[in-house]
Amino acid sequence: MIYKNDQALIQGFLEDTSNIKTGHTPGVYFPESIEDVSKLLRGSSRTGTRLVIAGNGTGTTGGRIPFGDYVIAMEKLNRIDEPVPCGENTAVMTVGAGSLLEDVQKKAEDSGWLYPPDPTEQLCFIGSTIANNSSGARTYKYGPTRNHIARITVVLPSGDILDISRGAYCAGNDGIFRLDLPFAGSIAFERPGYPLPRTSKHNAGYYSSRDMDLIDLFIGSEGTLGVIVEADLMLVPVPEKIISCLVYFTTLEDLFGFVDKAKHQTGGIDPRALEFFDRNSLDFLRKAYPEIPAKSAGAVFFEQEVTAQTEDEVLEAWLELMEASCAMTDESWVALDVDEQRAMKAFRHELPAQVNEWLNRQSESKISTDMAVPDASFAELFHFYRNTCEKNRFRYIIFGHIGNSHVHLNILPSNHEEFVLAKTLYRDFVEKALELGGTLSAEHGIGKLKTEYLARMFGDDGIREMARIKQALDPSLILNIGNLIPEHYYQT
Ligand SMILES: Cc1cc2nc3c(=O)[nH]c(=O)nc-3n(C[C@H](O)[C@H](O)[C@H](O)COP(=O)(O)OP(=O)(O)OC[C@H]3O[C@@H](n4cnc5c(N)ncnc54)[C@H](O)[C@@H]3O)c2cc1C
Repeated sequence: MIYKNDQALIQGFLEDTSNIKTGHTPGVYFPESIEDVSKLLRGSSRTGTRLVIAGNGTGTTGGRIPFGDYVIAMEKLNRIDEPVPCGENTAVMTVGAGSLLEDVQKKAEDSGWLYPPDPTEQLCFIGSTIANNSSGARTYKYGPTRNHIARITVVLPSGDILDISRGAYCAGNDGIFRLDLPFAGSIAFERPGYPLPRTSKHNAGYYSSRDMDLIDLFIGSEGTLGVIVEADLMLVPVPEKIISCLVYFTTLEDLFGFVDKAKHQTGGIDPRALEFFDRNSLDFLRKAYPEIPAKSAGAVFFEQEVTAQTEDEVLEAWLELMEASCAMTDESWVALDVDEQRAMKAFRHELPAQVNEWLNRQSESKISTDMAVPDASFAELFHFYRNTCEKNRFRYIIFGHIGNSHVHLNILPSNHEEFVLAKTLYRDFVEKALELGGTLSAEHGIGKLKTEYLARMFGDDGIREMARIKQALDPSLILNIGNLIPEHYYQT
């Protein structure tokens, strides 16, 4: 196994996109096989040496940043097998944890299959997307990463290599998982008992459900329970055709009405993505896209899978809905072929690029939210975000996954006072989302940045349940310590 400790060569492992700048590590291991990972973890458990797992560093919450811990870099475990059909409408593809999401998607599509999860950032590793249960625009139709994982191989902190197929290990009637392992011996622990929020997306803390499957405990556990080294992904057929459209509105009331009807209307309307851009986001984008109409209060991007037979009828249904919702139909952008759709994707991805460019000229970092709420409470959270920002004269944008009642508020402070105030107000945003029955994180996870808020969501007892599971699987507390669970909850 390769090991590097030349600080100039390993500098990149001290960063992700959270803007945490104080990470440090004695060195980075680059396992080249599952056995390498197993040996490394087994030895570290014996010596109590802490390790942090590194994906590709696009995470937003500092999860991979070491504070004196050694790093395990997953990049060499990047095998991508050919998809294997298993039935008319499904295929399975085996991938290494260090394979890039965009390579995985391309390989699937080359043989006519679609891997549905599509986080906006494609340069992430597949293992990280499983560890973080990542989502994207298509999550509206297909659900998060969790729904598309048939099997994982995970290396536990003991060094045990555990192969978990969906359905193979379920908590019994008593809610207990029981494992007999070569190195760790017999382990038993109770599944989490807390309820999850009634949001359509949620990625904060360990998963919990009655009749829980062990695979779901590891998915979304942010690398605290083991290193995911390999997975079987479930694929669906690539849709025959797609309709994509960017619709502008002069008022937010019309826009919200449109989204609501698109979510509930039948008559052929069945979106796979419903994404939102507020006026301020459009102002950012106008620099690269001057054709964005000046009077638009916001825009919705929608996408639907169709066939050659249904395309006209579906398009007609959407146009009727746009008319009925007072959309700026004439100024809207309809993309029916692959090239136009690629151009529209570039448009959507331009927003983080423009925001980052703006931030690079400032001395302060942004404050961003990742909360989602049940549909009925979405407007209340949205107006709370907006009114708070307007009252404090912040520069801000609101954008994202409106179909899942999950939009990101980014406050862009222009000086330190604004940064401090926005950070204080972040707590109010969390409280508001939780009061409305929402989740602290719908997709980006908790990492190291949001641990202090997790107890607000699950209470001390909920965090103690998570800590108990963590300590059953990682009694020496060596893996991704400081992520997800605040350290003072561990019993030592
Ligand atoms: C512009 C931008 C847009 C984004 N859009 C989205 C989006 O739409 N949806 C979304 O969900 N996220 C989004 N993200 C967040 C990010 O891309 C995801 O969280 C992604 O899963 C991180 O992958 P990574 O390989 O970069 O992981 P890293 O940042 O390197 O690590 C993330 C976490 O995963 C753990 N980890 C990594 N590999 C493993 C493994 N093999 N086993 C166990 N734990 C592991 C790490 O320890 C760390 O805690 C976005 C980020 C950016 C910068």
